[in-house]
Amino acid sequence: MITPTAPFPAPRAAASATGPTVAIDIGGTKIAGALVHPDGTMTATTRTPTPRGGDAEAVMAAVTEVVADLSGSPLWSSAVRCGIGSAGPVDASRGTVSPVNIGAWREFPLLARVSEQLAAHGADVPAVLAGDGVAMTAAEHWLGAARGHANALCMVVSTGVGGGLVLNNQLHPGPTGNAGHIGHMSVAFDGDPCVCGGHGCVESIASGTAIAAWALAQGWIPADDATAAGVAAAAAAGDPVALAAFDRAGRALAAAIAATATLVETDIAVIGGGVAASGDTLFAPIRSHLASYATLSFVRDLQVVPAALGTHAGLIGAAAAALMLLPS
Ligand SMILES: [Zn+2]
Repeated sequence: MITPTAPFPAPRAAASATGPTVAIDIGGTKIAGALVHPDGTMTATTRTPTPRGGDAEAVMAAVTEVVADLSGSPLWSSAVRCGIGSAGPVDASRGTVSPVNIGAWREFPLLARVSEQLAAHGADVPAVLAGDGVAMTAAEHWLGAARGHANALCMVVSTGVGGGLVLNNQLHPGPTGNAGHIGHMSVAFDGDPCVCGGHGCVESIASGTAIAAWALAQGWIPADDATAAGVAAAAAAGDPVALAAFDRAGRALAAAIAATATLVETDIAVIGGGVAASGDTLFAPIRSHLASYATLSFVRDLQVVPAALGTHAGLIGAAAAALMLLPS
């Protein structure tokens, strides 16, 4: 007999505070900002290129410029919180970032520096830092494909593989903001070494970089584009090596998605990122392999779907992370 348990916590009344959230999204190519409103609309959207080749302060100056732009909005004074999404690695417990694609920042105290800028512009509001995988997860749960799912795994499959978890309707970033780091879950215990030092990681098989490298090593001859997008185009045209590369990537993703669901009972996996843009070329092998990994009764109905948020997912994610992680 199954023992009754307490009901899961009700969804947090995320957007109950009425003012906008200051959202800042930091990536290797651009730094963007917006005021994100409780209904998910955005105003005062601004962006600037991420400085290349400068020092830490040069990059920070671009962030300062974005905050200054936002502070010109007539709605700035009603802002109630700030969410910062950043390329990783991040250490949310210390408020620092060391983005792989922003070499000038190593253990850069981004949270403290943004908070200083907010206060300097008259918005002394609480702020939170989230890695881009966690921010994407918050975005998809708030307004995207994981909406209404209390337990969800969201992933980005791009040049790397990242992700995040929603458990019991709460974002679960973990102590340092790195929970859900599915790209470095091993799905082949005697597999090839990974850049992280592990073996057989999902990222070393299913990232765009890995898909292209494997296809080339197996003799795939690119027509022009030698990236994963080129492999996807070749797979769609029936090239057997390209199809095998996506089948292998899909199998690695399926194993990790099933393992996650078996561990914490996620019932949906949402996948975004450049490699996911290949559509069924990636999703069909994931779904077909899932049947041989997600075998227990409670994971058999696991869904795998594309992410729903496009262009502004980073800003929505920064705001959504703040909504979920900062008390109203
Ligand atoms: Zn790894």
